[in-house]
Amino acid sequence: MQERRRKFYGWGYEGDTVSPAETAEFESAWSRLLGVDHFEAVPFPKEEDIDLRAPRIQAPASLAAICTTDKYDRLYHTYGAGTVDVARALRKEFRNPPDVIAYPRTEEDIVDLYDWCGRHNLAAIPYGGGTSVVGGVNPPEYDRYRGVVTIDLKHFDKVLEVDAKSQSARIQAGVLGPSLEKQLKPTGLTMRFFLQAWEFSSLGGWIATRAQATSRRPIRRSTTMCKASRWSRPRATSNRAVSRCQAPAPIPIDCFSAPREPWASSPKPGSGSIAGRSSAR
Ligand SMILES: Cc1cc2nc3c(=O)[nH]c(=O)nc-3n(C[C@H](O)[C@H](O)[C@H](O)COP(=O)(O)OP(=O)(O)OC[C@H]3O[C@@H](n4cnc5c(N)ncnc54)[C@H](O)[C@@H]3O)c2cc1C
Repeated sequence: MQERRRKFYGWGYEGDTVSPAETAEFESAWSRLLGVDHFEAVPFPKEEDIDLRAPRIQAPASLAAICTTDKYDRLYHTYGAGTVDVARALRKEFRNPPDVIAYPRTEEDIVDLYDWCGRHNLAAIPYGGGTSVVGGVNPPEYDRYRGVVTIDLKHFDKVLEVDAKSQSARIQAGVLGPSLEKQLKPTGLTMRFFLQAWEFSSLGGWIATRAQATSRRPIRRSTTMCKASRWSRPRATSNRAVSRCQAPAPIPIDCFSAPREPWASSPKPGSGSIAGRSSAR
């Protein structure tokens, strides 16, 4: 089955639209909020409308199979999902795209990518779901690096192991919220970590940003749900590290996540409210 492509300029999949009624509702709310009486509609940008800077670097032959300089991939990885990012994208401002996008499939691939970046003074940007609102996935503006390689973790999308007894799971970092829940469902467990950007954000992103899911009480914190994580690093610094999820820096390859938390002893067994259990319990 062909993978659905996300819009390169904003939230959602290509082809997803907002109905005229919903647009009218937003416009009316924003008019009140911003004190303006009308909006000028801007057409969504098309790939062919945008001139991209030529890539400044080329992947070595040994990494060519997992790297691309395809225009859509570079556009898509230029920005996160903050308001300013989306505004720039809608204005077709793509002055500073990443040069190469890498889609590693193994831990070894990641270490090799790091080594390449280290040897050639390239910025390496881990990319989970791209919902950062603080410029976390945006290529740096300054000239310190010869080029930028965005490392997209989308192939690290599996729940590897589930231990029903301890209610823990070993999960790869690139999995997005919906796929994570879908894979856990048959086991009767749930991560129950529904931050607002759940649909398009990844486990690795949650850990790296210390995300919080505030939509339900008690508030859930990614740091307290993670028992341990394994991280990739450049070969020069010993290429793997195991840690508690407290100090994000390198890419977590997989995580021992702990759906169960201190409030698992909450006094409502069987109601679905116990952290780590789905209502199917
Ligand atoms: C509409 C909307 C709602 C949001 N709601 C919430 C919310 O309720 N709570 C909240 O906390 N945040 C929220 N956010 C912010 C964002 O969703 C979180 O920061 C989320 O954790 C980012 O995950 P991601 O996979 O999209 O990470 P990305 O955007 O891909 O990356 C974020 C940062 O983490 C790094 N990173 C990503 N994956 C890895 C990895 N595997 N290894 C190492 N580094 C990595 C990136 O390099 C980058 O610096 C929201 C954002 C939007 C747009």
